[in-house]
Amino acid sequence: MKYVSTRNNKLSVTGSTAVLTGLAPDGGLFVPESFPEMSAEEISRMTEMDYPERSALVMSKFFDELSYDELLDIARRAYATFDGDPAPEVKLESGLYVLELWHGKTHAFKDMALSVLPLLMTALKEKAGQKETCLIPVATSGDTGKAALEGFSDVEGTAVIVFYPDGGVSHTQRKQMVTTLGSNVKVVAVKGNFDDAQTAVKQAFGSKELAEKLAAIGCKMTGANSINLGRLAPQVAYYFSAYADLLSSEQISYGDKVDFCVPTGNFGNILAAYYAKRMGLPVGKLICASNDNNVLTDFLDTGVYSLDREFIKTTSPSMDILISSNLERLLFEFAGRDSDTVNDWMNELKKNGSYDIGGERLCEIRETFWGGFATQEDYADTLMDIYDEYGYLCDPHTAVAFNVSKQYAEECDDDAPTVVVSTASPVKFAATVLESIGITPPDDDVKALKKMEAETAFPVPESVYALFGMSERFDEVTDPARLSETVYDFAEGLKK
Ligand SMILES: *Cc1c(COP(=O)(O)O)cnc(C)c1O
Repeated sequence: MKYVSTRNNKLSVTGSTAVLTGLAPDGGLFVPESFPEMSAEEISRMTEMDYPERSALVMSKFFDELSYDELLDIARRAYATFDGDPAPEVKLESGLYVLELWHGKTHAFKDMALSVLPLLMTALKEKAGQKETCLIPVATSGDTGKAALEGFSDVEGTAVIVFYPDGGVSHTQRKQMVTTLGSNVKVVAVKGNFDDAQTAVKQAFGSKELAEKLAAIGCKMTGANSINLGRLAPQVAYYFSAYADLLSSEQISYGDKVDFCVPTGNFGNILAAYYAKRMGLPVGKLICASNDNNVLTDFLDTGVYSLDREFIKTTSPSMDILISSNLERLLFEFAGRDSDTVNDWMNELKKNGSYDIGGERLCEIRETFWGGFATQEDYADTLMDIYDEYGYLCDPHTAVAFNVSKQYAEECDDDAPTVVVSTASPVKFAATVLESIGITPPDDDVKALKKMEAETAFPVPESVYALFGMSERFDEVTDPARLSETVYDFAEGLKK
């Protein structure tokens, strides 16, 4: 399998190059030259496989430089860090299911990919004979950071430095990050919001000067943000797995279409669902759920992507994003894989803060995608409703998805079963969850967790409580303009 760039469809690189660089040299994202196929027989056969086997089968379609057995070994090791089934599906009622993607170490769906990526990277690095240390600067809106830190902590030949928006993540998210152990990790707060942090990290990646300075000390930058192909491929797997589970439990028959509703930020998770569809999974609608930062809802309504809006801080912080990086991969497909068109749109976005894909393309996108958003109040009501009706406690991000999936059901005549994708455990957002179900949360995080556990019987793992007793290792705050220097200083410190 070869990969091209969304900004240069003539480029052709291997899967290892795509994973080991992250972003294409022209600033584009790597996309498969053509979509690999999963046959009906393979999808049906998944019903007899465990999760690592399903994951390895899907990944084998993307990475032919590794054998199925090597990929299976990677998947087995990655998902052994999970508590039980990595992607269980819970039935709320006939036709309504929740796919829980937060049984990994950091209790958010980022673990699904970030537990695999370090192992994938080291395996590909070895095959490619790369000697340099993979230095990984990461911008996070809250969950990626910890998942990357956990995944890469003390992995030989790698180092990770995480930047999060100062004051822009939840208490628990911050605490999780700044307590991470490991000699090859660092965490820094950046003044500004997530988009500021992400933009500064992208600039560091694009900086020739920084790359040269790093090369001189044996380091090479690699992206581990959700644009990395090595994160996308493991994410495609759980959509196949969800379908296989519906087949095994006889909720559907082979060929029945299933809708997925995905709480969306950087568009990585929902894009993986679209890739699954293109690979042959019988997918009906993909419902794109946003919070108050509803740039994608507007885009799916009008075909105009516009940054002329306020950045709103919500209690579903992992979706507080205005520049959805992975959307570029979708644009590439709907531009007929014409990278010139994608370049034009991206240049317009840079120059004027918006682009317009036009009515015809929008119509085509809307055959598969439906967009909606939930405000702060609306999703809190939904969180309460779902808890009341099904006794199912979900986190704020998942509640946004439930709200939007309800809007979809009300507005559209579609009787396909819906799988709501659940991206975080309530334990990450105890105070917000309590508030949504009408209980005043105690100020203290541990007390909030205890209260949630007492009131709802939702089990809080011991490791989450333990977190609050751990000492904080990192307290540095930096200016976006100084980010490259911070990366270099970290790399230099590694040698000592
Ligand atoms: C990252 C994240 C999202 C958004 O996922 P994208 O792939 O960026 O669209 C949603 N919910 C949670 C809890 C997350 O951590």
